[in-house]
Amino acid sequence: MDFLHPEERLSREEIESLQLIRLRKVIEEAKKSPFYSRKLKGIEPEDIKELSEVSKLPFTTKEDLREYYPLGFLTRPVSEMVRLHASSGTTGAPTAILYTENDLNTWAELMARCLYMVGVRKEDVFQNMSGYGLFTGGLGIHYGAERLKCLTIPAGAGNSKRQIKLLQDFKVSVVHIIPSYALHLSTVFAELGIDPRSLNLRIFLIGAEPHTEEARKRIEEIYGVKAYNSYGLSEMNGPGVAFECVYQEGMHLWEDAYLAEILNPTTLEPVAEGEVGELVMTTLTREGMPLIRYRTKDLTRFLPGRCLCGREHRRIDRITGRADDMIILKGVNIYPMQIEKVLMARKEVGQNYVIELYKEGHLDQMRIKVEIKDEYFVEDMRVLKQLQQSIAKSLREEILITPRVELVEHNSLPKSQGKAVRVIDLRDK
Ligand code: ADP
Ligand code: ZN
Repeated sequence: MDFLHPEERLSREEIESLQLIRLRKVIEEAKKSPFYSRKLKGIEPEDIKELSEVSKLPFTTKEDLREYYPLGFLTRPVSEMVRLHASSGTTGAPTAILYTENDLNTWAELMARCLYMVGVRKEDVFQNMSGYGLFTGGLGIHYGAERLKCLTIPAGAGNSKRQIKLLQDFKVSVVHIIPSYALHLSTVFAELGIDPRSLNLRIFLIGAEPHTEEARKRIEEIYGVKAYNSYGLSEMNGPGVAFECVYQEGMHLWEDAYLAEILNPTTLEPVAEGEVGELVMTTLTREGMPLIRYRTKDLTRFLPGRCLCGREHRRIDRITGRADDMIILKGVNIYPMQIEKVLMARKEVGQNYVIELYKEGHLDQMRIKVEIKDEYFVEDMRVLKQLQQSIAKSLREEILITPRVELVEHNSLPKSQGKAVRVIDLRDK
């Protein structure tokens, strides 16, 4: 196995002792910021004698980031900062993350590590179809690819025809793309009569939004590539926090850079081994804006056992969704990804769907609009009705209630420029 960094080869023991040293250092550094100088009052680095004592430290939340916006988390003068990013604002007012030159360097190295791990090399041509600007998926991954000395194309989001032309003209082999856009782009290929498999594509990095194994399989099949799951969030720099290796069994979370805990979101106690909970992380190497026990709201679990690749950085499972993505309907808890799993496994279903919540009288109801591939969108109403019922039935098996299913023509549902909006809530609040 080929490694880019010596840190990838660390044993569990080595990882944990490095984490303890770094955690103590972070406490000391963080205290230089207005937020943590208050929050960590009375806590000294020496108070943490073993890693489990991280539980003595307070949590940091998105609300804290908003309250101390814009500069209240900085450990040094703003003149030492060289870049600013912001979260996409999927769940409310945006927050800003600032980076020193060293921070950008560490981040780019982490990103390069991820790309190298799945086989990206200097000879590859890399096209980044993620939005640039404040969103970290643009520049974040860009600098990782440049570090590996790949020819790097900052294509940005959207403009599908131009994307395809670039892919063809420069024989692009590696692409970073949001999974919902990868599915949509395949319909543009079809319209142009170009088979994506006839291009030079080899590797896709997909992430930034929840998606299912079924969606990944579709993407791999359509494009003839290996698609690797990429996880990150702007509060933890951006992409490069956790990434799948070639075995595609969970994402290695880079524990030399992040201390991760998985906690029960209600009790905030660690979950039992292998159980799903909220991922909470502490930055271990960021100097300008360290964050301690940041509550990501993302739900996942640590996968048990060792990975065949030899890396001992623990793996996290595919993110089920954010804690606040959960839909409660008729007393049943439903995650949008359960619905996607059913839809993407069906050959008749096209590349887009949307879940609508609405009220009928006093009752909450769910309607799922599903794009159907042209070849299955037939004139015969009886055939369509059967298809609709059969989809509703498979959904029922997964989510335990029968949703209303509406079949719509391919490419008729609204597309978002960035992360897909899967749930539309039409109930009055
Ligand atoms: P925002 O929180 O406003 O969307 P970010 O752009 O920082 O801002 O997005 C980070 C979030 O995106 C993560 O907290 C997670 O919910 C989601 N995300 C990122 N990568 C993945 C992935 N591979 N799988 C599932 N969700 C992901
Ligand atoms: Zn591995």
